Amino acid sequence: MADGAAEGMADGMARGTADGAAAERWRVRVDRGLCVGSGMCAGSAPGAFALDAGRRSRPLAEETDPSEAVLAAAETCPVEAITISRPDTGEPVFPPDE
Ligand code: SF4
Repeated sequence: MADGAAEGMADGMARGTADGAAAERWRVRVDRGLCVGSGMCAGSAPGAFALDAGRRSRPLAEETDPSEAVLAAAETCPVEAITISRPDTGEPVFPPDE
């Protein structure tokens, strides 16, 4: 599933730029109640996540351009603390709707 989601996002990004549609944005959230401070997200996407003094991750920006590194961080978080959605529609990007 992880690989399929990444491919889907890449396809979406390509379509967004090819047909002139408004650029997609992602809203990134970390559930600090779930985060166990592994640091994996900050390691794999250092431009998007950082650990704070309490060793909990936080997104460096509330919204970001679609990014395979951010998606990979969400997919590999061991406690599924990272969620991504479309800020304009609220549509979930990760985890995707089943
Ligand atoms: S990968 Fe998940 S558990 Fe680890 S620091 Fe990031 S949000 Fe927290």
